[in-house]
Amino acid sequence: MIIIAGGGIAGLTMALTCHQLGIECRVYESSEALRPLGVGINLQPNAVRELYDLGLADTLAEISIEAEEWALFTKDAHLVWSEPRGTLAGYRWPQFSVHRGQLQMALYREVILRLGEGSVQTDARLTSYQNESSHVAANFAGSSGHTFSVTGDLLIGADGIHSAVRAQMYPNEGAPLWGGTIMWRGTSRARAPRTNNSFILIGTLDHRFVCYPITKPDDDGFTTLNWIAELTPEKRQEPASSDWNREVATEQFLPHFLDWRFDWIDVPEIIRSAQTAYEYPMVDRNPVQSWVDDRALLIGDAAHAMYPVGSNGASQAIVDTRLLGAQLTQYGETQEAIERFQSEVIEDLSALVLRNRGAGPISILGVVEQRRQTPDQTVHEIINEHDIAEHMANYKQAAGFAKDALNAAPSILGEIS
Ligand SMILES: Cc1cc2nc3c(=O)[nH]c(=O)nc-3n(C[C@H](O)[C@H](O)[C@H](O)COP(=O)(O)OP(=O)(O)OC[C@H]3O[C@@H](n4cnc5c(N)ncnc54)[C@H](O)[C@@H]3O)c2cc1C
Repeated sequence: MIIIAGGGIAGLTMALTCHQLGIECRVYESSEALRPLGVGINLQPNAVRELYDLGLADTLAEISIEAEEWALFTKDAHLVWSEPRGTLAGYRWPQFSVHRGQLQMALYREVILRLGEGSVQTDARLTSYQNESSHVAANFAGSSGHTFSVTGDLLIGADGIHSAVRAQMYPNEGAPLWGGTIMWRGTSRARAPRTNNSFILIGTLDHRFVCYPITKPDDDGFTTLNWIAELTPEKRQEPASSDWNREVATEQFLPHFLDWRFDWIDVPEIIRSAQTAYEYPMVDRNPVQSWVDDRALLIGDAAHAMYPVGSNGASQAIVDTRLLGAQLTQYGETQEAIERFQSEVIEDLSALVLRNRGAGPISILGVVEQRRQTPDQTVHEIINEHDIAEHMANYKQAAGFAKDALNAAPSILGEIS
């Protein structure tokens, strides 16, 4: 039996994967009830492929929108780079933009449907675990103070960036690391700029605005536009907390974007029309040498929380569960399986965490800013298109969604029958 701590994207996908493989598992989630929290995320074709293999194609089509374009702009809204995405770029699987909470709830419904009512226990916060010679015991606490323990063959820590499993493995690690950037996130009803679903990033590395739709347009042409306003203030002020759900008033950060009105996008208008905004410091964690402690393993953000600059945190979490599933199939619910999973991915994913710290695919905006000598210089006088194309291709390679390699790769676990 596998104990999964955390009912987020990684934990729930892990449960579906175990079910597909006929492995008994149970999810323990700290929230009293799962609610559709968060705003937009992207699912890259490598993760979409895995969700399709889990039989979730119809679900994804219902809750998300296919990405069409990824485009970067200077702070005066001039195009630096645009590229097609998903099937338009020749992938065999689409890239989707989706509300994180909708995805989590859809996965949750599917887990309950396939594994049964008792397969996810909410109000169960993992507090500690003990490795024994033949099993692992995980200890949980509920909000009323009651405690209980569960034993299993393996414990999978899918408990996110504030992972308790990781805290026990690395007691001196402390809080996630903040590099100085604040993100304000929200959604607004608006018309999608450029195409039905363009990922738009305008600005510089220190001051930028990102938006993309996360629903298909309604009959009136309006969509739910996910946005993130980001600023790295010169004067660093320690962030209040890295809590995804900390609400703030838009007036608090709107002044930084007031003059960002261009003929094709009105940033202050988008921000103003949001009902709620959330403040979150851009944080990650240093790579560690091991995600395995005897019979306990970290996956998803618990293992490799990264800056959200390449739209691939959730995708990596999903792919983790499938690669781990392949090892479990071959080596059973054993330490060998989790160690083999770790050896396969830890080096590349640790490098990706560091690459995202260096701004990942968007670091090209830094190059443009650095090289610009006069305000009227065109982007093409500053940087060669071929160099950008190469930079983008390198990133996709590092993040596991290089088109040709993915299209040609065999399925990790095969489709659900
Ligand atoms: C509430 C919330 C909102 C988010 N919003 C966004 C967003 O808008 N945009 C974005 O890019 N990313 C967001 N993320 C992060 C994003 O979901 C992850 O980066 C990515 O999907 C990887 O998923 P994960 O399952 O590893 O981690 P998460 O999705 O963070 O899931 C971790 C799960 O573990 C649970 N948990 C935590 N501690 C314990 C414990 N001790 N015992 C049991 N369960 C525990 C959490 O409640 C959560 O359900 C959000 C995460 C959360 C928890």
